Amino acid sequence: MTEGTATDTSTPERALVPRSDRHQVVVIGSGFGGLFGTKALKNADVDVTMIARTTHHLFQPLLYQVATGILSEGEIAPPTREVLARQKNAQVLLGEVTAIDLASRTVTSQVLGRELTTPYDSLIVAAGAGQSYFGNDHFAEFAPGMKSIDDALELRGRIFGAFEMAELGAARGENVDHLLTFVVVGAGPTGVEMAGQIAELAHRTLTRDFRAIKTHQARVILVDAAPQVLPPFGAKLGAWTKKKLEDLGVEVMLGALVSAVDERGLVVKYKDGSEERIAAVTKVWAAGVQASALGRTLSDQTGAPLDRSGRIAVNPDLTLPGYPEVFVVGDMIALDNLPGVAQVAIQGAKYAAKEIDGRLNGKAPQRPFKYFDKGSMAIVSRFRAVALVGKLRLTGFLAWLMWLAVHLFYITGFKNRLTAVLHWLISFLGRGRSERTSTEQQIFARVALQRLGRGAADLVSQPGEYDAEAERRRREELERQALEEVRLTDEQARGVRV
Ligand SMILES: Cc1cc2nc3c(=O)[nH]c(=O)nc-3n(C[C@H](O)[C@H](O)[C@H](O)COP(=O)(O)OP(=O)(O)OC[C@H]3O[C@@H](n4cnc5c(N)ncnc54)[C@H](O)[C@@H]3O)c2cc1C
Repeated sequence: MTEGTATDTSTPERALVPRSDRHQVVVIGSGFGGLFGTKALKNADVDVTMIARTTHHLFQPLLYQVATGILSEGEIAPPTREVLARQKNAQVLLGEVTAIDLASRTVTSQVLGRELTTPYDSLIVAAGAGQSYFGNDHFAEFAPGMKSIDDALELRGRIFGAFEMAELGAARGENVDHLLTFVVVGAGPTGVEMAGQIAELAHRTLTRDFRAIKTHQARVILVDAAPQVLPPFGAKLGAWTKKKLEDLGVEVMLGALVSAVDERGLVVKYKDGSEERIAAVTKVWAAGVQASALGRTLSDQTGAPLDRSGRIAVNPDLTLPGYPEVFVVGDMIALDNLPGVAQVAIQGAKYAAKEIDGRLNGKAPQRPFKYFDKGSMAIVSRFRAVALVGKLRLTGFLAWLMWLAVHLFYITGFKNRLTAVLHWLISFLGRGRSERTSTEQQIFARVALQRLGRGAADLVSQPGEYDAEAERRRREELERQALEEVRLTDEQARGVRV
């Protein structure tokens, strides 16, 4: 049997041919849950097929460093295929899962209009969560979120691009305040880290690079409807973080709900009903999460309820009611108020993998899944962080060192760790940013693709519609043109009036 190839049927939808008679495990997602679940099945007597819509694993906690030019995207997003190269029982397939059929035990995925059906014996769903705009999805056009490499690169382009446009505007004698105002919405860890880094960029990194503008005059505003920053860290650490952000020059606006967003700015509404407009071209949305829409599919088929964030209620062993072969882990689940953090996904995925292996070996079921909280931390600026580990509350340099050690440990791959350390040295000890490259496409491609009916699929030929004859004619024409170029050069016929 051919390894991992699709059967040759004439219908556009094809079915994956299993690689062996072994138990087939399908894992959806290559994030923390997907990758750690797949790795945990390394020694199990199963074939694992990981299906994910990106070809990389993603270390989301460091996305803000890609957006602000500290790290490269490759350092936090290694190719999943490379990470799993030595795990012979695992195969990786690119595809957006569009359907899960619990009755027929199949997963349907798609990439650029090419569809594939993959059968499973056991399924681990780890499709994570996306950004939530709390019912205002139209805000996304002007205030990108921070969930993917695309988001981080777009934000990098928008942030550094705003300084460029401000320099240009100032050189033309225009008011550029709206270009030099950066608003971060959401004062959770991501928002705090993002605001702190934009402030460091403006007040430290870029101060010598421009002529017409003074980057240290840039305004960085952190907005949240909540009454404090970092609510999950408690009042004391929240107050400490707010003070440190203000020392960095960040304006912290609390109790302010974003009620409108457009190209030139946003409107915030206070509790007393009053409104304020902030003119700011660059907005970053770091508030709210919405679990993968696959949760809805699973809920419709099982009756398991979804919470307000679209997270599905699972059994204490992370399975779906009535479907013990289907596990859901990580950001998609609503269980015991577990937070949406990497460790919940990692531990849940390992638990599911152990259960699958145990069942095949006739072992008794494990006890219900129990999350071990290893603590939370957020970096405020270089050398300053907050950490909450059990009852221990740490602030400042010590917390920062702890942040450094933990993140180094969890970055995937030795070479990524090495280059990340180099880039941190450049940014934290020096004032540089190694990864400032950005392009126009980086900033505008997302919105442009969304305007196409089927996104990128509209830009490529469809399976079965490939016109080989047209392709042959195009090649002949190109060859004819090339020969003509050669003739013109050889006969010194260029520039000769005919
Ligand atoms: C900016 C940011 C900062 C964070 N900081 C921290 C932190 O400091 N500490 C911490 O513990 N946690 C942090 N988190 C949260 C943490 O990253 C998540 O809790 C964790 O990634 C959840 O793991 P997961 O496997 O459930 O989902 P993810 O890691 O999000 O993985 C989901 C995977 O599913 C894929 N996928 C989604 N839909 C489909 C589909 N339909 N078909 C195919 N594939 C699909 C995605 O491409 C991805 O590979 C942060 C998150 C963000 C966004």
